[in-house]
Amino acid sequence: MDCIFCKIIEGSIPSRKVYENEHVLAFHDIQPAAPVHVLIIPKKHIATMNDVQAEDGPLVAEIFAAARHIAKELGVDESGYRLVNNVNADGGQVVYHLHVHLIGGKKLGALIG
Ligand code: C5P
Repeated sequence: MDCIFCKIIEGSIPSRKVYENEHVLAFHDIQPAAPVHVLIIPKKHIATMNDVQAEDGPLVAEIFAAARHIAKELGVDESGYRLVNNVNADGGQVVYHLHVHLIGGKKLGALIG
């Protein structure tokens, strides 16, 4: 499968990892939009949030648990941060492997653009 995030998971494309467990990987975004910009992805290939199935519930919970852990590790848990999931073209999704952006380290602007 020609998926850039699957290649990051298997290690054939490098990334700056910040967190990993059996089901989830997180790494610094290569084009950071803020001082802290981490992508949290499931190791299972799921193209978009629209493709999440009922049985993926625990996996989605793991993504949020990872976000909480990473925010604390990177020191933005108290100052605050934003979690973003872009879905399909109008949502601005470029990579079709489910991912949550964890963005922080500065006062973020308005959400709607
Ligand atoms: O939500 P969206 O699909 O637009 O986000 C994809 C993100 O993946 C971008 O922020 C891009 O910089 C990041 N990316 C990355 N490493 C790659 C390819 C893309 O961090 N090798």
